[in-house]
Amino acid sequence: MKVLLHICCAPCCIVPVETLKSEGMDVMGFFYRHNIHPYTECLRRQETLQRYADQINLKIICQEGYDLEVFIQNVVYRETDRCTYCYHDRLRTTALLAKRGKFDYFTSTLLYSKFQKHDTIRSIGESVGRSIGIPFLYKDFRSGWKEGIKTSKDLKMYRQQYCGCIYSEKERYYRQ
Ligand code: SF4
Repeated sequence: MKVLLHICCAPCCIVPVETLKSEGMDVMGFFYRHNIHPYTECLRRQETLQRYADQINLKIICQEGYDLEVFIQNVVYRETDRCTYCYHDRLRTTALLAKRGKFDYFTSTLLYSKFQKHDTIRSIGESVGRSIGIPFLYKDFRSGWKEGIKTSKDLKMYRQQYCGCIYSEKERYYRQ
């Protein structure tokens, strides 16, 4: 079975890729870029992922372009609910690509993070899958949380300190 895995960053893909491969899945990764700000940070995360993918022989597709402006336009005035748009766009883009590429399923490394809204991601993934006509493969990868962190540290992988968008960077660092 072929699965297209949306990958938010290299550290978060360690456990999902291992889990899916151990279940006999043929995995390909997809790196979505528009929500990672600024651009130099996006490139750093992409390069980290590319290096890791080469090490483990994982094929990945990296999104072309960098629609920072479109991302901001879609969340302005509803910044506190921005993650819903962000999850939806990332999962929809992945599902469309998976459908075009004749994959059996699509899923996301967002299901690995303890810091993301897990149930919302599941619900959006399943709904997007139904509307596009490709099943969302739901897995709770969070049980491998500690193992993934340890492996990323052992590999001296770049580990970012904020989720991705410029709003999350402010929440992480700004102190009044
Ligand atoms: S905090 Fe993370 S999930 Fe939420 S909008 Fe920003 S990048 Fe997307």
